[in-house]
Amino acid sequence: MERLPSVVELRAASDAVPADAVVAIDGPAGSGKSTTARALARRLQLVYVDTGAMYRALTRAALEAAADPADEAALCRLLDGADLRLRPGDKEAQVVWNGRDVSQAIRTPAVDAAVSAVSAHGEVRRRMVERQREFARRGGVVMEGRDIGSVVFPLATAKLYLDATLSARAERRWRQQRERGQAAEREAVQRDLAERDRLDSGRAESPLAISPDALVIDTSRLSLEQQIEEAALACRINPWLDARVDWDAARAWRALPAKYRLFYNAVAPVGALVGLRVAGRPAPTVPPGVILASNHISWFDPPLVGSTFRRGPVRTLAKRELFAGPIARAFFRWLDAIPIDRRGYDAAAFAAAGAALAAGQNLLLFPEGTRRRIGEPGPIKGGLGILAQETRAPILPIFVRGTRALAFGGNPQSPLEIRYGPLVRLHALDRLLRDHDRREVTERIGALFLGILRELEARSYAATPESEYERRLRLAQGRRDRRRNPFGETG
Ligand code: C5P
Repeated sequence: MERLPSVVELRAASDAVPADAVVAIDGPAGSGKSTTARALARRLQLVYVDTGAMYRALTRAALEAAADPADEAALCRLLDGADLRLRPGDKEAQVVWNGRDVSQAIRTPAVDAAVSAVSAHGEVRRRMVERQREFARRGGVVMEGRDIGSVVFPLATAKLYLDATLSARAERRWRQQRERGQAAEREAVQRDLAERDRLDSGRAESPLAISPDALVIDTSRLSLEQQIEEAALACRINPWLDARVDWDAARAWRALPAKYRLFYNAVAPVGALVGLRVAGRPAPTVPPGVILASNHISWFDPPLVGSTFRRGPVRTLAKRELFAGPIARAFFRWLDAIPIDRRGYDAAAFAAAGAALAAGQNLLLFPEGTRRRIGEPGPIKGGLGILAQETRAPILPIFVRGTRALAFGGNPQSPLEIRYGPLVRLHALDRLLRDHDRREVTERIGALFLGILRELEARSYAATPESEYERRLRLAQGRRDRRRNPFGETG
C-alpha cells in the first residue's frame, strides 16, 4: 500500500497544477464549498464554476415563467433556449441568464425552496452536466456542486468533499443571509438546510454522495483560512503520490522476471501486427499491487491488454473452464492466472487475488465479469469493489476499443486502442465504511468505475471519432444480443 504524505511533506510540495486541471469540490449546503472553491481558483489560477448557481438560475427562470418545478419537459425547454453565463464576481459568482444579471435573484428563499426539486430531474441534469463539461474544455476549473467528482468529472485532477455538522452549516448560512439583509430565524434556516440535504442525498439521479476517491475535509471546526489551507494541501496529495511512482519503463523491464519478459516479447508482435495503439500513460512500476481494471468486449482483450503492461508481473483472473485440458492448464498456470468460478461469488479466487495484491503483485481484472456490448460498458460486478476495500490497492483504469474488429496490418475502419487512465486511489474508503455497509461501498466503487470507463471512452472518441464501421458494428451487435439475451449479456 502506498504511504500517504505527512502534513510537513505536503506543505513542502508545490501548489502548481496543470493549466487544464479540474478540481472538483462537492458537499452539502453551507459546508464552505463556495469560499473554498473561489480561494482555490485564485490560488491555482483556474476558473471558478459554481454549478449550484446554474441550477438556481434555472429555478428562478421557472418561478418567473410560472413553470411547475415538477414539469421536467417545461424545465428542459427553458434551459435549452437559455444563454447561461457565469462570470467570476467579487464575492459570489455573477450569473447572467439571457443577458440579465440574476446574481441576486437566484439567492432568495423561494429559489432555495424549489431548487432541489428542479435539480432532481435526469434530463435537466444531463443538460447541465454537458454545459459544465464544456467549461472544462476551455481550460482548467475549480468546480463546486453536488455531483462534480462522482458524475461530471469522474477523473478530476483533485476531488474534495467538504462536510460539516448540520448546526455549523446552519450557523454559517444564517450569518450569510443576515449579511445580505434577509431576515431569517436560525432554527428555520437549519430546518430548510436539513430538508435540502434530504432531497439532494435521497434523489435517484446523481445524489449528493462522497465519491470513493474523494478527500474528505470536515470544516465544522475550521476557520476560513484553515479550511482553504486544508483544501490546498488536499489538492497536493495525488500529485505527491504520483511523483513517487516509478514510471521508468526501461528500469521496470530490466527488473522483470525472465518468464514475463518472454511473455511480453511473445505477445508484443501480435499487437503490432494488428495495429495496436496505446494511449495515455501506461502502467506504473511502483507502487506494486495495482488493480488494472479494464472494460471487456472481446476474447482478445486479456492477452492484448496484458501485452501492453510490460512494467511488471501481472496476474489475472481467468474462468475455470479455461483450465480444462492439460496443455491449457499448464499454460494458464505458467501465466500465474487465478482460476475463478463465475457462477456466483468465488470467495477462494478473490482471496487468492487479494493475497496477490497484498504481496505487491499486479492484478488484471475485467470488472464487468464478462464480455459486454461495445459502447455500453457496465454493469460493474462486485469483485472490483470488494477487492479494493480489502486490499486498498490503487486502481489503474483501462479502456479497450476495437478488439471486436481485428485485422492484420490494422483495421483502417476501426482503431485498435488501449487507453490508460490515471491511478485512482480510494481515499474516502474509511469514511464511507463508517456510514455504510460493505455492499453499499462496493456499489459506489462500481458506479465510480463505470463513470471512469465512460469518461475514457469519451476521450478516446474525442481523439478519434467513431467511424461509420464502428457505429454499424455497435448497432448490429446490440440488435443481435438483444435477440439472443434480453438481459444484454454477451458472454
Ligand atoms: O450549492 P447551492 O446551495 O447553491 O446549490 C443549490 C441546489 O442546486 C442544491 O441544493 C442542489 O439541489 C442543486 N445542485 C445539484 N447539483 C450540483 C449543484 C447544485 O443538484 N452539482
